[in-house]
Amino acid sequence: MAGQDCIFCRIIAGQIPSVRVFENDRVLAFLDIRPISDGHTLLIPKIHAGSLSECDVSVLAEMIGVVGPLGKAVVGAVQAEGYNLLCNNGRAAGQLVDHVHFHIIPRRCDDGVLARWPHKEYPAGGAEAMAEKIRRLLAIS
Ligand code: 5GP
Ligand code: ZN
Repeated sequence: MAGQDCIFCRIIAGQIPSVRVFENDRVLAFLDIRPISDGHTLLIPKIHAGSLSECDVSVLAEMIGVVGPLGKAVVGAVQAEGYNLLCNNGRAAGQLVDHVHFHIIPRRCDDGVLARWPHKEYPAGGAEAMAEKIRRLLAIS
């Protein structure tokens, strides 16, 4: 799904208005239309990729390079104390737009914006067994 079917591709093409914060030939940052907090910004690659694993590594590297200064500027603009860098992958993880994107969500201590994550504990030997499963499935070329 790209081009006319993808809302973020249409934003890149200027077919849907957006409030742009930064762009170069590979990435675009713009304000989220329904911000979780003031300044909530989305950073996207200009080449369509549905998910992180479909995104060209050099484009991801560009996104990571931009996130540092962009996060700092967003935090400064709203005088926040930090930010969450969030990338929802898959419906189960809350991904609604299938064009890879990083959320930059400004945060303040005790703002209650994102609920605290529940934490579990591994039973004895559970962490080692889990790591072994992951290692077996890991394909890095
Ligand atoms: P996801 O749930 O896929 O990680 O996040 C998609 C984000 O895109 C949401 O936070 C949503 O508010 C934002 N969004 C969806 N459509 C538009 C749009 O047309 N313009 C802008 N600026 N943001 C959008
Ligand atoms: Zn797209």
